Amino acid sequence: MKIIDLLNQTTDPIFSFEFFPPKDEEGMKNLYQTIRDLKKLEPSYLSVTYGAGGSTRDKTLELVGKIKKEIGLEPMSHLTCVGSSIQYIREILKKIEGDNIQNILALRGDPPKDEENFVKHAEGFGYAYELVREIKQNFDFCIGVAGYPEKHPESRSFEEDIEHLKLKVDSGADFIVTQLFFNNDAFFEFLERAEKAGIHVPIIPGIMPITNFSQIKRFTEMCGAHLPEKIVNDLEKIKDNSGEVQKYGTDYAIQQCKELLDNGVKGIHFYTLNKSKATMEIFKDYIT
Ligand code: FAD
Repeated sequence: MKIIDLLNQTTDPIFSFEFFPPKDEEGMKNLYQTIRDLKKLEPSYLSVTYGAGGSTRDKTLELVGKIKKEIGLEPMSHLTCVGSSIQYIREILKKIEGDNIQNILALRGDPPKDEENFVKHAEGFGYAYELVREIKQNFDFCIGVAGYPEKHPESRSFEEDIEHLKLKVDSGADFIVTQLFFNNDAFFEFLERAEKAGIHVPIIPGIMPITNFSQIKRFTEMCGAHLPEKIVNDLEKIKDNSGEVQKYGTDYAIQQCKELLDNGVKGIHFYTLNKSKATMEIFKDYIT
């Protein structure tokens, strides 16, 4: 099923979980267990990332195929432009279409680990909107794109960033999933800017429950999300006690989700990091 049809059909918020393809068999086995745990929560869809530089292409496609055929849940495959010619991207899209996957998160992508900046393939796309346009013109997928409540790190201003988001929507994007954030006000201001810019597709906030202090510091630095000073100070005091850090992260995410839901968001996308515990906790006590 297309995610946009689901969003249009229901007035209830939808919940989705994001995973990354594990490096080895052991990781894959653990991930299947995580997915089995989270299936009980009846997520609307599961999304699978596309490793930097297309490094996980085969595993991403394998995983979305299994989610659809074997696990019986709706998948969304991420797809990036990094290191790929247009011809190659078309081949991947045909493969995804052949596996009856109906949802794609169309991204420019981050550069591979050893490269600092994104470099456009000589015969590829330089921006996500070009990938969106390609998909819209030649395929029949539901298309999600990325949005940045605190703006994309490469953007010079919020205004410029929202113009570029509008370009993705005008090129055919059906909905937006946001980068992780910890300050709900930043998300609400982002919604206002989007509305003013004429963006009327559903915008789903992305939430990452904190489970590890050094990991979240690294992630937020990498993706340009702001880790509020209060969180940093609170975590500094408990960083060596993983149980306390996880409880703090879960409680924080619960408060964030409650406020977002109270303000009528159309859904929440959880960055699970392939673990079920934090997400299960959030659902157990507050959402269901
Ligand atoms: P774009 O929308 O193309 O934007 C990139 C930059 O270019 C922005 O600064 C934008 O303002 C600017 N820009 C856009 N259009 C123009 C234009 N016409 N002229 C000038 N400047 C322009 N990365 C992965 O590698 N794999 C994943 O699976 C993955 N999943 C993600 C999932 C979500 C929900 C999110 C929020 C991000 C994900 N990312 C992933 C990270 C993403 O690839 C990076 O943030 C990347 O740097 C930008 O991708 P984008 O699709 O937003 O690019």
